[in-house]
Amino acid sequence: MSGFAIKGWCPDAWRPMETGDGLLVRIKPRLARLPREQARALCALADRFGNGIIDVTRRANLQIRGVNETGWRDLVRELVELGLVDADRRIETLRNLLVAPDWAQGDDSHRIACELLARLGQLPDLPGKVGFVVDAGAAPVLLDEPGDFRVERGATGGLILRAAGRSTGVELAAGNEAGMLVALAHWFHDSGGALAGRMARHDAPLPDWATGAVPPAPPVAPMAPGSTPQGTAHGAPFGQAEAAVLARALADPAIKGLRITPWRVLLFEGAQSGAIPGLIASATDPLLRAYACPGAPFCPQASVATRDLARQLAPAISGNLHVSGCAKGCACPHAAAVVLTGRDGRFDLAHNGRAGSPADLTDLSPAAVLAHFGVA
Ligand code: SF4
Repeated sequence: MSGFAIKGWCPDAWRPMETGDGLLVRIKPRLARLPREQARALCALADRFGNGIIDVTRRANLQIRGVNETGWRDLVRELVELGLVDADRRIETLRNLLVAPDWAQGDDSHRIACELLARLGQLPDLPGKVGFVVDAGAAPVLLDEPGDFRVERGATGGLILRAAGRSTGVELAAGNEAGMLVALAHWFHDSGGALAGRMARHDAPLPDWATGAVPPAPPVAPMAPGSTPQGTAHGAPFGQAEAAVLARALADPAIKGLRITPWRVLLFEGAQSGAIPGLIASATDPLLRAYACPGAPFCPQASVATRDLARQLAPAISGNLHVSGCAKGCACPHAAAVVLTGRDGRFDLAHNGRAGSPADLTDLSPAAVLAHFGVA
């Protein structure tokens, strides 16, 4: 199968997505954080109702995979009871908020994100993939991450409101940042943004109150595995972790909570440094530079298995590696140094491109790919 289906919606817990290994149930942790007991309970649910695998997504969400139709209802009921899913389906759908994961209690990111969460009911209906970004730390960390309506640290030191697709934003007065995000979402809705689907594609001129010339401040590097002021960060290979692995790590009472980042990195708040089997402890581990979607047999659009090949290849590649089950390229929207795209059960090989980029070599078996890169 070489084509792929483009979906215009995002799954959530109330609207799970059918995949090759059952239903996929997405959970959107508030403020990208789960207190330790909530995280442990989530791991237990992933084992009970799913296949024991938890995905970490680019929007800092978590996904339980392999859920069946009957179990899904009980799973959602328990997620609502745990406070991980909103009982109001509309609010759950609208709750697309990416927040700088190193926020601290009472700082700008925390304050604005809390205010926005409290005002979700004031939002108009929005296309499923539309979301908010609150990146109000000392310097931005989320500039490369998706989000339509953004509050960011600006180059002048204050906070700015910026619409996706515009390189600059307008300075915000302190105190009404969340209100301005809500107002921008209403403008998007009222000006026909749903037709474009995303803010970046909506080319209507912004209203004066959302127009400004302040660029975001220079960004800082995203969180990587290792010690941080808030605890120890670990990478999740290919954005997945076994629930049992997380549960074992979270048994340590010194850990206060689990923070989810959009970079396939999990922060164990309060944890001492040290390896966790199954997770990536070092910022130089080649697996951190390897991207691979679930592939076959887990995605119906894949004709090739992806992750075992990526694991074997990663140490032999300098730069990023992307092994994609098909040309959609779900695992990595950016260009990678080496890209293998599945097509009709074989791989096309491209360099410095995205999944489906014009290939330098085509029709390769996995063995031929390994041989090409000198992997025995
Ligand atoms: S890129 Fe991978 S996960 Fe995405 S549709 Fe293709 S095979 Fe499925």
